[in-house]
Amino acid sequence: MPTAPLPHNEDERLAALYSYHILDTATEKDFDELTELASAICGTPIALISLVDKNRQWFKSHHGLAVSETDRALSFCAHAINKPDEMLQVEDAQKDKRFQENALVTGDPNIIFYAGVPLVDEGGYALGSLCVIDRERRTLTDVQQSALKILAAQVISKLKLRKKLLELEVAGKRINKLNTLLTNKEQEAMQIIEHTPLAMALHVGEDMTIRFANKIMLKAWGKNELVFGMPFNKALPELAALDFPRTMRQVYRKGIAYEQTEAHMSYMHEGQLKEFYYNYGFTPLKMPDGQVWGILNTAHDITKVVKGRQTVELAEERLRLAVQSADLGTFYLDVDTHEFVPSARLKEMLGFTADEPISYQATIDQITEEYRDKVVNAIDAAIKEGASYDIEYPIIGYHDKQQCWVRATGKVYPSTDDGKSPFFSGTLLDITERKLDEQRKNDFIGMVSHELRSPLTSISGYIQMLNIKAAKNNDETILDIAGKAKRQVQRMLTLISGFLDVARMGEGKIKLNLKRFDMAALVKEAEDESLATVTSHRVVFKPVVFTPVEADQDKILQVLTNFINNAVKYSPKDSAIQVACLTRDNIAYVSVTDEGMGIAPKDQPHVFDRFYRVESERMNTVKGFGIGLYICKEIIARHGGQIGVDSELGKGSTFWFQIPVTS
Ligand code: ADP
Repeated sequence: MPTAPLPHNEDERLAALYSYHILDTATEKDFDELTELASAICGTPIALISLVDKNRQWFKSHHGLAVSETDRALSFCAHAINKPDEMLQVEDAQKDKRFQENALVTGDPNIIFYAGVPLVDEGGYALGSLCVIDRERRTLTDVQQSALKILAAQVISKLKLRKKLLELEVAGKRINKLNTLLTNKEQEAMQIIEHTPLAMALHVGEDMTIRFANKIMLKAWGKNELVFGMPFNKALPELAALDFPRTMRQVYRKGIAYEQTEAHMSYMHEGQLKEFYYNYGFTPLKMPDGQVWGILNTAHDITKVVKGRQTVELAEERLRLAVQSADLGTFYLDVDTHEFVPSARLKEMLGFTADEPISYQATIDQITEEYRDKVVNAIDAAIKEGASYDIEYPIIGYHDKQQCWVRATGKVYPSTDDGKSPFFSGTLLDITERKLDEQRKNDFIGMVSHELRSPLTSISGYIQMLNIKAAKNNDETILDIAGKAKRQVQRMLTLISGFLDVARMGEGKIKLNLKRFDMAALVKEAEDESLATVTSHRVVFKPVVFTPVEADQDKILQVLTNFINNAVKYSPKDSAIQVACLTRDNIAYVSVTDEGMGIAPKDQPHVFDRFYRVESERMNTVKGFGIGLYICKEIIARHGGQIGVDSELGKGSTFWFQIPVTS
């Protein structure tokens, strides 16, 4: 008995059949109704839905036949499936060579007539057939044939439907399982997110739905909890425009984390376009089987840090440019390791070549002997007290032995938290030109003052002679004129000696004639002088006890007289001027208080500077050169004392100085 050849795509066909998970399942009403209908339409006692398995044919529905399967070798359907597009009709099996000896023909159920329409699925695989069988010879009419074909199509769509339902059921079960897993995982994730100090959010699904975000993240977005449950695009259109969802989706699909550092972005935040810098990352959250179920979005707002650093960088750049354009030499000295880093310009100033290595000691060695200790002490004090220094001194060039003047400033910077040891950093500015200028000015002032003094001394002598003569002649008019001329000459002499003092001070030539004397006597001297000369103001001298000091009496008197004269100059007529001398902690404190125009806080630190005069309309009516207080300051400094002013604009001033009392 010839058996049906296997279809050319048998393996795939079987796989397709198995994908329906139908073999050996219980009978189903839907299919039984179709076989019943087929048998009724075709007038046959038997109708089958036969599915051709590897070695058998199995009947999903078997109307009019008790068995549910037979051997494939006996199967008529195994023949039918070889021509998927055709119906196989065997009118008389006993006369058909293919079936004559078939046990189903020769024995029960004694098949004579067979008509089967292949059951072809979507993939084109013939799974089996819908067939009708009779124990008598017959032919199907065209109507019956087409009805059978329609019913076969029905079987296929039922099979398809059944398969779909099965798949849905499986998917449903998987989804339920997944959901339970997800909710557990999500809850764990939410706990972590809420309590972390970083901005964090949890996104799920391909549309990056925001499942949860902590307060820091909501703040970064400028949103509130209403965004929970919303897809990223809808909740955060302003950020979606920056392409975040696309990046996230890739992380979701590929399961590979994504990170960005110092990402610069601008977006609308609480109604304003703002600029931010973030370190952020998208981490895929995976199931035990590796499937991504969500994305953890973490962000760290580093805007302040980046902007701070940018400001520092900008300031550093500006400083560098400023140092360059000011032609400053700079150095850096590590206080602990003594590592010394001088700039090329600094080396040049010290007379070295720019590429010559030099030590910190070399910078000290170039200072002239006269100034060296003073500079070293100033630097030591700055290092010890963490203060800064600002000092001018001459240096001798290492190679060319040329002298030049420099102004050095420096400051100690304490050790930092990041373990950087304390360092000393400073600048050196070449001020030779300025010093030479000063020198020339001083020489000029000195020379002019000196030249002016000689004729004045002669004039003074002539006035003296005139005075004597007028006194003899009792000539009141000449006496008056001679008196006036004497006062003017005196004024001029005071001015000239002031200029000479300035010139000498600049050169450091002022010499002190130290001797021990009583400050009470000095104040008395000033009182006598003011009684004789000041008539416009009430100058009140407070009683002074015995106060011994070791100082240059003339110069200290010069300071006190200067204070009194200024008080007269800068306060209204008839106002009071108080002069006092007290001793506190072995220090003699001398003060002159007036009720005058006072000095604004911004001018107070400068009134002791050379040639400094306060600028105001009232000042224009008062003559002066701005050198008196400068001389006072130098005199007191050379006595190791202190000088100062306490003043309130419009109310008055107290000028004071203090020098040590001797025992
Ligand atoms: P001068 O009086 O010749 O200008 P000084 O050196 O004595 O020079 O004083 C410097 C400046 O300080 C003055 O020009 C004035 O502006 C201010 N000054 C000094 N003494 C007083 C004072 N008693 N009251 C108000 N201003 C004063």
